[in-house]
Amino acid sequence: MRIGDLSLSDCCVDHNLSVREITRMFDQHPDWPGVILTSSGQFVGMLSRQRCFEILGKPFGVDVFSNKTVLEFHNTYGTYNLLLDANTPVPDAVKQALGRDGNQAYEPIVVRQGERRYSLLKVHDLLLAQSDLLENLYSEVQQLSVIDPLTNLNNRRGFFEAAQQEINAFHANHGDLSALMIDIDNFKITNDIYGHFVGDQVLCAVAEEFKKALRQTDLLGRFGGEEFIALLPNTSLETAYRIADRLRIKVEELVVYVNGYQVSVTISIGVCHIQDAHGSLDALLSQADQAMYWAKASGRNQVIVWDQQLAYNIRKRKNELAKPGDSTSGSALSVLRIDAARIYDETIEGWAKALEMRDKETEGHAKRVEKMTLALARRCGIEEKDLVDIRRGALLHDIGKIAVPDPILFKPSSLDDEEWKIMRKHPTYAFELLSPITFLQNCIDIPYCHHEHWDGSGYPRGLKGEDIPLAARIFTIIDVWDALCTDRCYRPAWGMDEARKYILEQSGKILDPHITPIFLQMLDEAQGMMGTGSTCPGRVIK
Ligand code: GH3
Ligand code: MG
Ligand code: MG
Repeated sequence: MRIGDLSLSDCCVDHNLSVREITRMFDQHPDWPGVILTSSGQFVGMLSRQRCFEILGKPFGVDVFSNKTVLEFHNTYGTYNLLLDANTPVPDAVKQALGRDGNQAYEPIVVRQGERRYSLLKVHDLLLAQSDLLENLYSEVQQLSVIDPLTNLNNRRGFFEAAQQEINAFHANHGDLSALMIDIDNFKITNDIYGHFVGDQVLCAVAEEFKKALRQTDLLGRFGGEEFIALLPNTSLETAYRIADRLRIKVEELVVYVNGYQVSVTISIGVCHIQDAHGSLDALLSQADQAMYWAKASGRNQVIVWDQQLAYNIRKRKNELAKPGDSTSGSALSVLRIDAARIYDETIEGWAKALEMRDKETEGHAKRVEKMTLALARRCGIEEKDLVDIRRGALLHDIGKIAVPDPILFKPSSLDDEEWKIMRKHPTYAFELLSPITFLQNCIDIPYCHHEHWDGSGYPRGLKGEDIPLAARIFTIIDVWDALCTDRCYRPAWGMDEARKYILEQSGKILDPHITPIFLQMLDEAQGMMGTGSTCPGRVIK
C-alpha cells in the first residue's frame, strides 16, 4: 500500500479545546491514534494520543498543562513538518510520522504527489489504516521498557514482572526456588581507572558470562548499575550455592579486552532460598541482598548464603556500629558526630539516587533542586544552621513515591480517579516514612508540604498561605522551575521567557507571592552572570 491510496477522514477537533477535554475524547474513542487540530475548519496541527496522555501522565504535567488549550501546547513546543512522497510505503511513513527515524517528533505531515499536495488529514487515516503496524510498534516499545539496553537482560521492571510469575508457579507447584543477588566488586574503581566506556563493556561481558552459565529457565536481570539478580526455579539452596560459586569463578577468570586494556573484575553473591523467605518474593530478594552485603563486608569475591544466624550477625554489627563506646572522650564524640552526619547524608543521597534509578526521567532532579533551594533559602533569610534540614528535605522531597506502585508511577496514559488518589498520597507516605526517624524529623516540611499551594488548592492538606511551612514554599518554586526547564519525554524544556512568565502567573496561586520576586531576582542575577540567552539557568537537556 502507498500512502497516496488512502482516503480522507474527518477526525478533527478545535484547537481551543483544553488538553483535558481532548483526553476525555480519546477515552471515548479508544481507536483514535491521534486528532487533527483545526481552526475555523483549517488544519493547524496534529496531536497523537500518546503525546496527549504523556502530558497528563505526570503529576506535575497535570497541574500545569491540563487546562491549557491544545493550541497553546502546540505553539509552545512547536512541531515539524514531515514532507512525504505519496509513493512512500505506508510502514515507512508511519515510522517517520512517529519520529522513529532521527528522533524527531513530527506532527503535521504533508503528503505530496508531484506538484500536488494532499490534505494533511490523510496522515490520520494513515495511522488508522495501520493499526496492526502500530500495535507491533507498541509491543516493541513495551519490550524496550522491560529490557536493559546495555546488557539486553531484563531490567528491574522486566525482572519483577517475570519474577511474579515464577513465584505464582512456585506456589502452584510447591517446587524449589532460589535467588542470587550479584554485585560487581569495587566497580567504581574500575570506572575511575579505565573510564565509563570500558566499564560498560565489562558490564556486558559479565552479563554474557551469566547468560552462558545459567539455564534457559533461570530468570536473569540487571537490578541496578552493577547489580544483577537471578531467580533459579527448581533449585535447592545447595545447588544455588554451587551455581553461584561457579559464576563467581567464571567472572574471576574472565579477562575483558577493550581499548587496549585487559580488565578483570570479581563479584560478590548473596544466596537465599524461598523457604527461608516464607514464600515471599520481597523477603527472598531482600535476604539475598543481606547475604550479598555480608559477602562484601567480609572481603568480597565470595558467595554467602542467608540464614537466621547471618541475619542476627548483621543486626548485631549494625547495632555495634550505631553505639558509641562508654569511654568515648569529648573530641572522639565530636568526630563520631561528624561521621554520623556524613553517614546520614550519604544515606539520604543514596535514597534520592534510588528513587531516580526507579524513575529515570527525573535523573539529576534532586541534586539540582537541592542547590537552587539552598540559594533561594539563603536569600529568604534562613539561617545557616537550618539549611542542613532544608538540604535534606529537598533531596528527599519525592521519597513518598517509593510507596506508589510501579503501574501507577509509570503509567503511560492518564491516571484514573482511584490512581490519582494514590499518587496524591505520596507526601503523606513521605510523612509516614520519615517521621519515625529521629534525625530526619526537622526536614519533613518539604517532602510533606511541597504540593500545597499558596491559594489552598494543593494537597494533601489543602494548607493556605503562611500555614504552609516556609521551607516548602521556597522549595515549590524551585521544583516547578526545574520541571519547566528540563526536557521531559512528553515535552522539551521551556525557554527562559516562558518559564519565567509561568512563574509570575502562578505567583499568589500555586506560589508564595513574597518569594516569587526574590526568586526572579536571583534568576536575573544568575542570567546576568551567564550573559543573555534564552535558556533557563540550570537547564539540563536529557
Ligand atoms: P562494592 O564492591 O562495595 O560494590 O563497590 P562498588 O564500587 O562496586 O560499588 P558502588 O556502589 O560504590 O559503586 C558502583 C559503581 O558502579 C558506581 C558507578 O561508577 C558504576 N556503575 C553503575 N552503573 C554503571 C553503568 O551503567 N556503566 C558503568 N560503566 N558503570 C556503572
Ligand atoms: Mg559494586
Ligand atoms: Mg552496587
